[in-house]
Amino acid sequence: MKITKLETFTKPFVSFVKITIEDGSTGFGQMSTYHADITSQIFHKQIAPWALGQNWQDFENLENLILEKEHKFPGSYVLRAMAGLDTALWDLKGKIFNLPVVSMIGGQTGYLKIYASSMKRDILPKSEAQRFKILQDEKGVNAFKFRIGSECGKGKDEWDGRSEEIVKTINKELDSSTLKLVDANSCYSAEQAIEIGKLLEDNQVVHFEEPCPYWEPEQTKIVTDTLKLDVSGGEQDCDFRIWKEMIKNKIVNIYQPDVMYMGGLTRSLKLAKMLNKSGFICTPHAANLSLVTVCTMHFLKSIPNAGKYLEYSIEGSDYYPWQKDLFYNHPLKITDGGVIISDEPGWGVEINKEWLNSSKYTISELS
Ligand SMILES: [Mg+2]
Repeated sequence: MKITKLETFTKPFVSFVKITIEDGSTGFGQMSTYHADITSQIFHKQIAPWALGQNWQDFENLENLILEKEHKFPGSYVLRAMAGLDTALWDLKGKIFNLPVVSMIGGQTGYLKIYASSMKRDILPKSEAQRFKILQDEKGVNAFKFRIGSECGKGKDEWDGRSEEIVKTINKELDSSTLKLVDANSCYSAEQAIEIGKLLEDNQVVHFEEPCPYWEPEQTKIVTDTLKLDVSGGEQDCDFRIWKEMIKNKIVNIYQPDVMYMGGLTRSLKLAKMLNKSGFICTPHAANLSLVTVCTMHFLKSIPNAGKYLEYSIEGSDYYPWQKDLFYNHPLKITDGGVIISDEPGWGVEINKEWLNSSKYTISELS
């Protein structure tokens, strides 16, 4: 059965995709966030023309065909746009078979534990500890990630002494059964990362994310091989050539693909399989509360080599005003330190109609 219509609903940060096939069945997906207005143009120029008129069932072949047709564009934007097609296809399939996505890929609906992920560096160590404690007391969360260094910071701290202070403060304020994770967002040289890594180990941190510039994997490798705690990375990577190298060279202990940067669930599942074959854990990246976290819930709950928890951004409207009111019925509500994957078909979410009606609408259809 052929794909007949691909519609997009776009605001600067978010773009949803609606797919329609010959019998009128539909599904909703989302492209990767940020510069979604640009991504949506790429969708209608480089994705939709190849997808329209194709059979919808065989996702992997369809997506490979598109990438072959666009092989001069092996970068991130085409895959960010592809994520919109892929996630819409999975939603469509779920609605046709009346199954949640997770049930179609070997997993089960229900509870999934989260780690609360801070996106802030401009926050005082005391204030960070304070909001973690509130989440622990009120929502039962018992794993937290905070930021150290500065983003791509060439070794510089956000302000002098902040990293050391926050590592010690979080360890002091949260009890020892609480899991502590940090993210350096490509800040350090290998030598600096090892030094700070020892401070992390002394302060019960179990996960050290992106210690060195991610485009210099040989630096990261030194850190991974030297420290005892888990080093993680891979959130920006979307090219299988890079993934193969990362896996072969054992660059990190924990691999963190982002479902949307990867081009959707289909390619993410393929990567998770490769990781599993090599004995590696997959703890995906999901840094905001748009559809990326919903898709990641289904993904994580289905793979045998899943990490312990779902990344769950704790930033609200002050930091990410654009993620407000995307869905009805808050599919990402925290209950007892986790989230619940619903039994509804597809992704199990309903996109807010007012949001859709107030977005920029574009359609590509089979003539
Ligand atoms: Mg990160």
